[in-house]
Amino acid sequence: MAGAKMYDVAFVGELRLIGEIIRLEGDEVTVQVYEDTSGLGVGERIVCTEQPLLLELGPGMLSSIYDGVQRRLPELGEKYGEYISRGTVSDPLDRNREWEFIPLAEVGQVVGPGDALGYVQETEVIRHLIMVPPGQGGRIAEIKSGLMKVTDTVAVTEDGTEFTMIQRWPARVARPVVRKLDPEIPFITGTRILDTFFPVAQGGYSIIPGGFGTGKTVTEQTLAKWARADVVIYVGCGERGNEMTDVLTEFPQLEDTRTGLPLMKRTILVANTSNMPVAAREASIYTGITMAEYYRDMGYDVAMMADSTSRWGEALREVSGRLEEMPGEEGYPAYLATRLADFYERCGRAVCLGSEGRVGSITVVGAVSPPGGDFSEPMTQNSLRISGSFWALDTSLAHRRHFPAISWMKSYSLYLDQIEDWYAENIALDWKQVRDKAMMILQKEDELQEIVQLVGPDALPEFARAVLEVARILREDFLQQFAFSDVDAYCEPKKQYHMLKIIVTYYDLLQEVLVKGVTLKEALAIPFRQRLARMKDIPNEEAPEKLALLETEIQTELRKLIRY
Ligand code: ADP
Repeated sequence: MAGAKMYDVAFVGELRLIGEIIRLEGDEVTVQVYEDTSGLGVGERIVCTEQPLLLELGPGMLSSIYDGVQRRLPELGEKYGEYISRGTVSDPLDRNREWEFIPLAEVGQVVGPGDALGYVQETEVIRHLIMVPPGQGGRIAEIKSGLMKVTDTVAVTEDGTEFTMIQRWPARVARPVVRKLDPEIPFITGTRILDTFFPVAQGGYSIIPGGFGTGKTVTEQTLAKWARADVVIYVGCGERGNEMTDVLTEFPQLEDTRTGLPLMKRTILVANTSNMPVAAREASIYTGITMAEYYRDMGYDVAMMADSTSRWGEALREVSGRLEEMPGEEGYPAYLATRLADFYERCGRAVCLGSEGRVGSITVVGAVSPPGGDFSEPMTQNSLRISGSFWALDTSLAHRRHFPAISWMKSYSLYLDQIEDWYAENIALDWKQVRDKAMMILQKEDELQEIVQLVGPDALPEFARAVLEVARILREDFLQQFAFSDVDAYCEPKKQYHMLKIIVTYYDLLQEVLVKGVTLKEALAIPFRQRLARMKDIPNEEAPEKLALLETEIQTELRKLIRY
């Protein structure tokens, strides 16, 4: 195997199983095969392709379902039936499909990396730019238009280089950008606890750690359905087969709320279940992020959901174990932190290659499944160190059926300061104050709970009982959000703000009237509680107006109680 390089792809045995070279020693190599290796014998041939794992990037990726090494699963299913035999290959992009190529560049024009040669309308919602690949360019000698297949030449430069609609790119290498930008715009998810309390910025990354059954998958899927992103890439990495089946059957039926078209028109699914070979799991994360980068290069905001990154870490551990490398903490390789950091480095908001100065972003939300729900294990700790927001799922909340079971005491976001200005400009000037005050009420409740457990709530002074009352409203009527509700699954930032504003105003008023001699019993006798509970069911469009009215009403009613 002289001449082979690290991470080159090799075909192993008569079945031509795909694998990657993961160790070199003299002219001997170690190959990690992506498929089951049973039955391989001594003397079978290994062929090195002398190329790393290359992905094919081009029109037709959207709506596709791939496995970890970019094989189209539905096509394999059609060819081989329910069980895919080993060593099978499929073209990542449909070779027969024709696309209407509309040129944007002209003969004589000098084009460089990232410049658009033309576009095809990939789906009703996504215009797919055919770009000059990084590192290439020249003066255009010929450019075509009309119906063409992905492998047809669409443009030729004067030096004779031919461009097709396909770009080939090594999955493990980040695609270049001109410059990274600060994450200043929030990534709107429509989930109240996330947007209001622990936001992630566009181009940021967030992790959701949580024990079994706490809601990682539901949260990831809710985000994929509702979050404001042009393109969604969902990587099911090492999850159980039946969970992945749910995703694969459910997604194609979902409707995109913004366009009314199927959600798959802007989605790519990468499926890699726990019973598929472990090495392909490792690759699936890179396959996902490379496709995300490609759409970012066109100027789109891409969201990538990875469920779960722990399975990826386990794959690293397994491969490292086979290589007999010195193990680090809990058997994970010593380079776990570096690998994670390298991966997360690939997200961000950036000015993309090309003279147009397009801006695109990749936001990554990675689920982490710590064994036994123990957040001190290496995968959670290492992800935590590099993540920008941390959404801690809490088993006790999930047991109480408080969903999303995200703990408001343990979670955090480092993006708050950066996106504060956006909220002030686009939602309300006092957004941050209202948010901070609500958080303060929740924190106070947490402190008071200890006293309540010792002496009971009746021993508390009235103003403290008012804190408990409002905190309960915050928890039940703001933080709880049912992911399967028709109206409440997605809550617009404006509605979120108004809901929170009312609750905070209610708190201020309670404190005000208590000071002026009204008893808490009198104040709570006005039946606002039910009306606050129904805020969730107000449709997004009607919310600002209806909620502003409710706020005024609460103010008048409560102030009437004051005896001057
Ligand atoms: P995990 O992936 O962490 O093992 P799941 O995402 O499968 O857990 O969630 C387990 C169950 O919790 C779901 O089947 C659902 O009933 C419930 N659940 C989780 N999040 C929500 C939510 N936001 N709204 C409603 N139910 C939820």
